[in-house]
Amino acid sequence: MTKQPEKHTFQAEVNQILSLVVNSLYTHKEIFLRELISNASDALDHLSFRALTEPDVLGEDPTLEIRVAADTDARTLTISDNGVGMGHDELVQNLGTIAHSGTKQLAERMKAGAGDVNLIGQFGVGFYSAFLVADRVEVISRLAGSDQAYRWESNADGSYTIEDAERAGRGTDVILHLKVDTDGTDENKQDPAEFMREWVLRDLVRKYSDYVRHPIRLRVEKSETVGEGDDAKTETSVEWEQANSASALWTRPKSEITDDAATEFYKHLTHDWEAPLAHTHFKVEGMQEMAGLLFVPRRAPMETLARRKTGVRLFVKRVFIMDDCEELLPDYLRFIRGVVDSDDLPLNVSREVLQKDRTTTAIRKQVVRHALRMLESLADRDDDADAAAKQEDVAGEDEADDSDDSDGTDAADTKTDTPSYDDFWSQFGIILKEGVHSDTANRDKIARLLRFQSSASSELTSLAAYVERMKEGQEGIYYVSAPNRAAAEASPHLEALRKKEYEVLYMTDPIDEWVVDGLRSFDERDFVSAAKGALDLPESDEEKEEREEKAGTLEGLIAGMKTALGEHVEDVRVTSRLTDSPACLVVGEGGIAPHVERLLRAQNMEMPAQKRILEINPAHPVVERLNTLAADESGGEELSEWAHLLYDQALIAEGSPPSDPVSFARRITRLLEAKLS
Ligand code: ADP
Repeated sequence: MTKQPEKHTFQAEVNQILSLVVNSLYTHKEIFLRELISNASDALDHLSFRALTEPDVLGEDPTLEIRVAADTDARTLTISDNGVGMGHDELVQNLGTIAHSGTKQLAERMKAGAGDVNLIGQFGVGFYSAFLVADRVEVISRLAGSDQAYRWESNADGSYTIEDAERAGRGTDVILHLKVDTDGTDENKQDPAEFMREWVLRDLVRKYSDYVRHPIRLRVEKSETVGEGDDAKTETSVEWEQANSASALWTRPKSEITDDAATEFYKHLTHDWEAPLAHTHFKVEGMQEMAGLLFVPRRAPMETLARRKTGVRLFVKRVFIMDDCEELLPDYLRFIRGVVDSDDLPLNVSREVLQKDRTTTAIRKQVVRHALRMLESLADRDDDADAAAKQEDVAGEDEADDSDDSDGTDAADTKTDTPSYDDFWSQFGIILKEGVHSDTANRDKIARLLRFQSSASSELTSLAAYVERMKEGQEGIYYVSAPNRAAAEASPHLEALRKKEYEVLYMTDPIDEWVVDGLRSFDERDFVSAAKGALDLPESDEEKEEREEKAGTLEGLIAGMKTALGEHVEDVRVTSRLTDSPACLVVGEGGIAPHVERLLRAQNMEMPAQKRILEINPAHPVVERLNTLAADESGGEELSEWAHLLYDQALIAEGSPPSDPVSFARRITRLLEAKLS
């Protein structure tokens, strides 16, 4: 047992987080209350969860609540709960360290000074926000089931102390010694002393924490005059006045779940600093009883670093069961946050049970369905009123089990500030794409949510909008895979498509090829790669005749080039995809784009060398001249030089390195010499 206060130093990360929070949120000091109340509420949730299996843990103190008390003489504000509490080790672990790696990343970002407030959004605010208003924080806590309480104390100077303390019963008091100074002349200054005022606290609780399911009680002093005349004296009594409505937000009628309420609930749930991009509320009644409140965050949490809570929180009949319930969300929707409350699962449900229980599958289906619908609404909102608007939840798609679905998810229900679907896409598109392969049942819905760069404009397009713009006679959805937009635009493979004014999608994410592979078609139009297989563009009889005639005269050249290039190519053939370039390389029907191949190699993926087809443009003067050369018996060696050069040129044109840079350079020199002499 500790007798003397033990002195500990904060883990380096904690100091960084502390200064990040204090420096970036100083104009929003009041959020400390929401953060501390959220922690208290979590502590109560965890206790009630334990009570499911250990009823004794509630002991003589069964009413779970949060208390907020100001003491103007001591200049303190105390937030108390009778939740799980913390012992010595928990205090060290939870308040002195950050269990996540990625400090370096954070430190670098902080040094770069890049959007601190955004950084906090990705990271989550939490306990350290106490130091926004306090220069000294005491935490007195007693673990449920233990007799010993401890005092943790810090003034944010890089260290903290822990010592034995007294506390009547389990739970935690967070005592804030409010700062005296304000932030000078800052127009947003909020004197921390304000937070001792009853009405300020009441307003803050209502504003930020009304949806907290546990009662939040404010300490209110009531004065009363008793007696009369000379005997009159003022008696003060203390009351704990409930300041929130304390019912779970998702159980309330739809009309009460306003945008603001949803946003505050989201912040309470996730510790995110920013409002969500969208939310949706749903209730399912009938065979299955459940409710859910789902959110799309504004920003993806910073990998490895985010302390921000993740996933969906599971409740059973309003009782908290677990955080981050992976069983309820498929991987490709892992960015969704929210709560799901089921009446059908047993209260003692565990992960193991969830994995096996058929109810889980039914719940998960609802969650997926509403999550996708929320995204559809978000997309529809700023969509060019194209085919995506047609998405209606067809009643027939629902299985018998999700009977009477009394939700009302519609565009009006989905909340956005100003952010657009593109904002969503830039944050989470890469994750959502995985669903094309992993959730075949919802593939069509997911396909409607995909966005691509395209030759039509610099804006992202949906597949539905692409189809709308298709030219008459155009059969396929054309795409080209390239490392970036510029490379896609420069790709020789697009020449004939461009001439026909066919729009081409630019697949600039390496997984796009795999996505297209999974989709195969959209709206009954096949995806056609501009650089794969044969590109059968519609042509007039005249064009066809001319092409075939030209091709017929090129047989000698093709044979000569095949001999010259030998190992390098799978085949040499006449192309219909070029107008300006003499030659290009294409991959066979099932092949993969060269930049994806390079990427996979770079990740040490074992891959057989992929041989490609060299296509030559029969209408190009270079090809015509070479054809003359091929007809000349003595031209063999020269033809070989040109064939290699054409081949390397085709590689360079698509952004690949030449097959052998040294030979390539020598060849150029020889040809220059010949030309100049
Ligand atoms: P977060 O809540 O995002 O995990 P915080 O910094 O707010 O991060 O809190 C860190 C941890 O400290 C919590 O996860 C919780 O384990 C513990 N904690 C904070 N406040 C309380 C409390 N009132 N009762 C019990 N544990 C708490």
